[in-house]
Amino acid sequence: MTKIERELERLQTSIAAIYSGLKIEVVKILESDLANPRPTAVMRSVNAAIDRTRTRARAWMDEAIPGPLQMKSRELAVKFNVLGFRPPGKRTALIKTQEKLRERLSDYLEKAHTRIRDSASRFVMLSQRMKRTAAKFQAFAIEDVEGAYAKFEELADIAAREMWSRVRLQKSMKDFLLGEIEGDNFITVNGRNYGIRDYTEMVARTELAEAQTELTLAECKEYGADLVEFSASANACEECLSYNENIYSLSGNHPVYPELTDDVTPGIHPNCACAINPTSEEAIEFR
Ligand SMILES: [Zn+2]
Repeated sequence: MTKIERELERLQTSIAAIYSGLKIEVVKILESDLANPRPTAVMRSVNAAIDRTRTRARAWMDEAIPGPLQMKSRELAVKFNVLGFRPPGKRTALIKTQEKLRERLSDYLEKAHTRIRDSASRFVMLSQRMKRTAAKFQAFAIEDVEGAYAKFEELADIAAREMWSRVRLQKSMKDFLLGEIEGDNFITVNGRNYGIRDYTEMVARTELAEAQTELTLAECKEYGADLVEFSASANACEECLSYNENIYSLSGNHPVYPELTDDVTPGIHPNCACAINPTSEEAIEFR
């Protein structure tokens, strides 16, 4: 594992820890509200927890964005030097890549914040309804929202048939509601479900790796290097492995090597940790 890979892994773990902290906090807030729902107070607490997390996420970004990219830039400088490319006069690749990465990470994390807020407010609404249902001890007919009402109805039916106590019914409904927040289907990306922790870890892994590729491409342009070599990560998938050590041309004008198109540019899929490295005809000849 390279120094950069270790640093990326450390950063993924730390953002995941920040968000699993938020999840625990939100679940605690919602749990405390089950007995006596007070929607406004609960949402105020949830929003405060999200604001605190946003501050921590910004501090994380201040560390995560420059660090690995600066390391990559230094690593590239050594490679370009070995390959015989001369450093360009004006350099903006690093700054521009950092700005774009910050924008994307902020977007993805805001999406998570919105999702948490939506889930919490749905939870508050349903917990109010749950109180009434449990009190009346009967099913209610109401338009289904994402299957949650149907689940409540089903529980109330079972409760009536099997003579559950009100406490038992309330506990089942509570478990169901908390499962919604804590579960692994919090956010769906490309048809795959993620819990909040895995989502933020995946976003960090994917985006930080992608920024490394972006920086490499931008610096190749600055140095005037046209050829790159695909380097599959240690635990790469079959598709990525099939591209390993392939040579591509950035301009697409090379007589031998094909253009580096989007479908062969890492990240090829979420969690892709593959890379491209600058090379040259001379380097290819002696590899
Ligand atoms: Zn890959």
